[in-house]
Amino acid sequence: MRGTVLHAARDIRVEDRPDPTIEQPTDAVIKLAATCVCGSDLWPYRGVDNVDKPMPMGHEYVGVVEEVGADVRSVKPGQFVVGSFFASDNTCEICRSGYQTACVRRESAAPTGAQAQYARITLADGTLVATREMPDDDMVPGLLAASDVLGTGWFGAVVAHAGPGKTIGVVGDGAVGLLGVLAAKQLGAERIVIFSRRPTRQALAREFGATDVIEERGDDGVARLKDLTGGLGAHGVIEAVGTQESMMQAIRSTRAGGYVGYVGVSHGVELPGQELFRSHVHLHGGPAPVRRVLPALVDLICDRVIDPGKVFDLELPLEEAAEGYRAMDERRAIKTLLRV
Ligand SMILES: [Zn+2]
Repeated sequence: MRGTVLHAARDIRVEDRPDPTIEQPTDAVIKLAATCVCGSDLWPYRGVDNVDKPMPMGHEYVGVVEEVGADVRSVKPGQFVVGSFFASDNTCEICRSGYQTACVRRESAAPTGAQAQYARITLADGTLVATREMPDDDMVPGLLAASDVLGTGWFGAVVAHAGPGKTIGVVGDGAVGLLGVLAAKQLGAERIVIFSRRPTRQALAREFGATDVIEERGDDGVARLKDLTGGLGAHGVIEAVGTQESMMQAIRSTRAGGYVGYVGVSHGVELPGQELFRSHVHLHGGPAPVRRVLPALVDLICDRVIDPGKVFDLELPLEEAAEGYRAMDERRAIKTLLRV
């Protein structure tokens, strides 16, 4: 098969790879319909995360089940499936409490890499969700978004306590931040304020439900948000970047007693204890347990209630994955979909 491999910083190649096979009785092999490049793939791509050996890339996937292991019961060949980036058994005590990304059996869901023609999916029963029927082609991007960025933005909105009467701030205008806006809207938030400087992203945020856009960053951005909220700050803020600046902007934009849902992969963030102590802000986040909400998200997409697929503003064939990475690295694209 053809698959995407990162050899060194900014050296991404689509090359011949071994066809994945069933290795464990709990595995499935899927034929990808589409896959995509994640903002988190840019950390190793840019050399921020070390690449010491060739790394098969990709953890977002939708496709049709080709083959299942002997113990797999919940999905069967021919079904169209979506899954999350971490595999989970969905039966342990941690999974049952809604934290599938901390499953006691957690492992990479697509160890062979999902930016490929085929992928081996681990713990298939607990990881994959099948659609009711074969989705229309135009639903594929939305279902693919559910695999990670929608589920992640949704978790951020849930833990930021988005709901009726609430003002929710969103730090980060990448795919997760934008879909955090969509999630906050679906959860009933009254006012949704996104920090963004880029007109195309501002427009998509408004389409997804943002009521206000703040172009300032850092303390200036915090001051603007406080102006909009009677000096108090937002009830909750979704942090979807993962840097020191974005994390502090999220905490400082949140009112006393409010909630920060941090879902940007944390890089070099150090929290000042005393400021946190005085802030009365709740912090909760981490790798989003996408599997918790995946069945509900799949239904919302298949019923055409939401269309998170709009975050893909560049579509390329798998063979052109390198250009997909470049476009996201240079911020020419919000998110690249790769058709397989
Ligand atoms: Zn589990």
